[in-house]
Amino acid sequence: MSQTVLRVSHANKTFRTFERKTTALNGVSFSVNAGETVALLGASGSGKSTLIRAICGLEVLDESSGNIHIGDEEIQASGKLSPNIRHIRSSVGVIFQQFNLVNQLDVITNVLVGLGSKKNIFQLLSRRFSSEEKALALDALEKVGMVDYAYQRASTLSGGQQQRVAIARALVKGSKLLLADEPVASLDPESARKVMELMVNLTKQFGLTLITSLHQVHIAKKCCDRTIALNKG
Ligand code: ADP
Ligand code: MG
Repeated sequence: MSQTVLRVSHANKTFRTFERKTTALNGVSFSVNAGETVALLGASGSGKSTLIRAICGLEVLDESSGNIHIGDEEIQASGKLSPNIRHIRSSVGVIFQQFNLVNQLDVITNVLVGLGSKKNIFQLLSRRFSSEEKALALDALEKVGMVDYAYQRASTLSGGQQQRVAIARALVKGSKLLLADEPVASLDPESARKVMELMVNLTKQFGLTLITSLHQVHIAKKCCDRTIALNKG
């Protein structure tokens, strides 16, 4: 029997600002099995980012509404985050379109930040990492084809290379579930396809589960097992 990694039930999210009320998520329910690669498709403003942020606990759903579980653990329910959220979040790798990497730091340190939940900011900045940790990071960089860039500053990399490093960081973190919000949006079509293929291949190779938002339908169809379309939440 296949194992459910993610369960979203009746997710509603309303944003209220002075000017307007926006329904970003409107009764969204779905589940994802271990090892699946799922693309979230939808026009700009359809609620993709809100959904991804809710799954990793960066956005709290409406009070009256549903719940989100990762594995057996509750991320949030009835408008409240689980008290255990930090621990659960450490098992989820999140890859965003940009601002993934610290530009001033070299590639290997950016990957080592994946181990960061166990360290404080001073340890990270003073690069206090054991040789085992460094070996782990180099191993992950090897897997994404970026080991030759380990000691280069992140700011000198292309968009596609930066995404590879972001994937390496998620691997080092030991994440079982990868969430990616438009990870290839800023890349040219050829690099976008390559980076998405790499992400899906690594996901399969390491038995991970991937949920990624995309706006290129052809890439979603070509690379992912399943697509979920959002329309006005
Ligand atoms: P997508 O990622 O598919 O482009 P979003 O999830 O970012 O869509 O946004 C869904 C809707 O919610 C949009 O109408 C957006 O303007 C609105 N929205 C998102 N975040 C906020 C916020 N923090 N405050 C007010 N409205 C928001
Ligand atoms: Mg978005």
